Amino acid sequence: MARDGKTSRPGSTVAVEEGAPLFCPSAQPGMRDPVVIGVVEQDGAQDRRIAYLEQAIPYDEKVAALSGAVDPGKVMRIAARCEETRCAHFDGSRCSLVSRIRDLLPEAAVKAPPCAIRSACRWFAEQGAAACLRCERITTSVGPEQVRADSRIRQAATPPPL
Ligand code: SF4
Repeated sequence: MARDGKTSRPGSTVAVEEGAPLFCPSAQPGMRDPVVIGVVEQDGAQDRRIAYLEQAIPYDEKVAALSGAVDPGKVMRIAARCEETRCAHFDGSRCSLVSRIRDLLPEAAVKAPPCAIRSACRWFAEQGAAACLRCERITTSVGPEQVRADSRIRQAATPPPL
């Protein structure tokens, strides 16, 4: 148990109180308890993948300044508390986004990457390794060039109709 009363789950560098929401691994900086879990590496116009950090880093003003005027979702992967019913992707009990990612996108790795939040990650909790094997190709903010290159990305990112 950490001194702040939070529990750090095994295999995770983020703390989760019992009963608190898991972490969305493709979050916006304005969400609760944001941490950086990886940076986007770009090789050519379309080839992007995440380099995962050994430890999650709190997304604070200093880190925010690193991306300057660039949308942080294009250069880093931020995790934060899942907003559950306030998120268009939440179907009432599960994340529909990671279900579509599993169904529509091919595996991007042969093994799950090392990850600082695995035991606190909603995607892993719901889809296990199937999420991790696709995760490194996911950037939170998708550019038009990525959608042009692979229309499945738009399909995966589109929440179900209300
Ligand atoms: S899906 Fe897997 S690799 Fe991606 S953030 Fe969650 S635990 Fe980490």
